[in-house]
Amino acid sequence: MPFPPVDQLLTTRLVAPLLRIARRRSAEEEASPRLPVLMYHSISDDPEPGVRGYYRLNTPPALFQEHLRVIREEGFTAVDLTTAWAEWAGNAAAPRRKLVVLTFDDGYHDFLTAAWPALETHGFTATMFLPTAFIGNQRQGFKGRACLTWSEVRDLRQRGAEFGSHTVNHPKLWELPATELDDELQRSRCILEQELSAPITTFAHPSAFPRQNLAYVERFRQAMDRSGYRLGVTTSLGCVHRGEEPLLLKRLPANGADNASLLRAKLHGAYDWLAVPQNAFKAAKSLLGR
Ligand SMILES: [Zn+2]
Repeated sequence: MPFPPVDQLLTTRLVAPLLRIARRRSAEEEASPRLPVLMYHSISDDPEPGVRGYYRLNTPPALFQEHLRVIREEGFTAVDLTTAWAEWAGNAAAPRRKLVVLTFDDGYHDFLTAAWPALETHGFTATMFLPTAFIGNQRQGFKGRACLTWSEVRDLRQRGAEFGSHTVNHPKLWELPATELDDELQRSRCILEQELSAPITTFAHPSAFPRQNLAYVERFRQAMDRSGYRLGVTTSLGCVHRGEEPLLLKRLPANGADNASLLRAKLHGAYDWLAVPQNAFKAAKSLLGR
């Protein structure tokens, strides 16, 4: 989809300034009406030639450290998904910290070497979602990048990181029959609970979430519920707002294309507008595909 860099220009030059003016008038900013959940993958300098900004998976370590500085400067505290949800959703009336959730998909080893030391410097935590077939006692890889081992996962958990499921095999879930969908959700949870000796209640939907496929969305939501998950994140774009279904939470992609002003705009909800043309584009594409 041909969004960047038009999305960046519109977000930082038009939407973010307009929102600032509107919120100054309503003083809404004080009430934490939204929860930004950022979606990272790999923290590395590896180039991604030919991949447009929105779709990149890598964030260079130096830029990631800048992201954390921006989060701190904007008055946010980064915590794991379960902690954030309990505090943000469970306590809507009381004064709260400004929270942001940093999530990491796919279990890459650079979460340990590049992301976690930077997070610890700020006293932040995060949630990592693991496709369990690619996590072993010996190091394995996924999509050409090295993954964490189980002993590294246990060590990170001891140090405060939260781990959730990202299926077993990272399949296109919407193409699977019901029994296989259940198996991906339940077996990954079982494996994680055995390896970590702890309950696992969070899940990240692998690959682009087909929100326009309403029959699948409901099938997936029911399978999540049946499988014992309490919180689920997707690739649907935007901040989380009050009253949303906790098994189908939106996220904001974050990667090497996010300079400080774009990240700041994302934290304050000024990137959410992009979901409207993006959903329209996907709906048109699925209609044409029929
Ligand atoms: Zn993934």
